[in-house]
Amino acid sequence: MNQLNPVFIPGPTNLPESVRRVIDQPTIDHRSPAFASLLPQLFGDLKKIFATDAAKIFVFPGTGTGGWEATVANTLSRGDRVLACRHGVFSDKWIRLCQSFGLIVDIIDCDWSGPADPIRIEEILRADSGGQIKAVLATHNETATGVRTDLAAIRESINASGSEALFFVDGVSSIASMDFRMDEWGIDGAVTGSQKGLMLPAGLAIVALSEKAIKAGQSAGLPRFFFDCSQMDQTTTAGGFPYTPPMQLIAGLQHALDLLLTEGLDQVFSRHFKMAEGVRQAAASWGYQLCCSDLQFASDTVTTIMVPEGFNADRLVEYAYSRYGMSFGVGLGQLAGQAFRIGHLGMLTEAQALSGLAVIEMAMKDLGYPIVSGSGVAAAQDWYRSAFSLDSQGSAAIEEPVCEDVA
Ligand SMILES: *Cc1c(COP(=O)(O)O)cnc(C)c1O
Repeated sequence: MNQLNPVFIPGPTNLPESVRRVIDQPTIDHRSPAFASLLPQLFGDLKKIFATDAAKIFVFPGTGTGGWEATVANTLSRGDRVLACRHGVFSDKWIRLCQSFGLIVDIIDCDWSGPADPIRIEEILRADSGGQIKAVLATHNETATGVRTDLAAIRESINASGSEALFFVDGVSSIASMDFRMDEWGIDGAVTGSQKGLMLPAGLAIVALSEKAIKAGQSAGLPRFFFDCSQMDQTTTAGGFPYTPPMQLIAGLQHALDLLLTEGLDQVFSRHFKMAEGVRQAAASWGYQLCCSDLQFASDTVTTIMVPEGFNADRLVEYAYSRYGMSFGVGLGQLAGQAFRIGHLGMLTEAQALSGLAVIEMAMKDLGYPIVSGSGVAAAQDWYRSAFSLDSQGSAAIEEPVCEDVA
């Protein structure tokens, strides 16, 4: 009966009951006024999630990776240069996607224990006096390492260099969970997917493009068809989709947005901080290092924890799953075997977080890890008790509000 257990992987995340109920609905005609009438509010609410007035929002069937592809294909041309830091498997995958589209990527290899480096970015942009670099790519929250990049600092670097490059951000594991400000940080392209902070199944790629990015796309030449933003814009403005929309997911998305906006984004962010801090306190009580070497950059959606020398983190994750029916994230890329990840984004209560910590402690104990049973749980309990005022409504607030009939 491990279907009752929450998952502690950083996406797909746990589905709120009310989201599941909304998604379970009969077919409605996607060419009907009933569908058209859903769209204005959906796009308006998504703008709040991205913290933008000026950008245009695009909802594609797809996943986060499709969102990257849409961003690149709609704004750049073959042979364009782009600049990216590589500090985890997701930033690396974005680089590989760009290369496969014939873009030339200037790669800054950063230590995986830290964020993208605004100083190196500024140096390289300054050296590019001819303005060859058309875009700077940043991964807001490296889901492999649990490190958050300071996007405001990168925007400052771009400005200081005088570069006109577009600024594209992977916000797949941060948007709707951690503070994100598209307009204020001068972001030209932002990407997320449905299955992380938005608490839905996988299946939607959500992209926001600034006016500058859209304008760049009018003369940019990469091939695009499925992910054609201009086509998508025309059809959604007219109340439809360029192809069959995933109706149920779109209805679920509206409901998830209702939950998040009713709770209030500031509250959502502080709830994620609170959950994350409990996990960090637990790791500290075990005496383990985080992959993230400087806590000011610690992610509030996923924590990557290094296991002691001589232990295999893959085995730990596999054991927790097979013995206790609970899923944690494995270490990815160069962290394979050396680290495991606890995802704590989306719908999660203190009680659930404690259950995850209790289970991973049992698994570690069974496998001979040098920890004291209950030490991490106790540290997290103390933190959650003291942090109650951060979340005056209690974590239960997320599950409740609006559950209107959608169709
Ligand atoms: C999950 C994730 C992705 C990939 O998203 P898919 O939906 O699996 O395509 C990209 N970037 C980051 C930071 C992620 O966490």
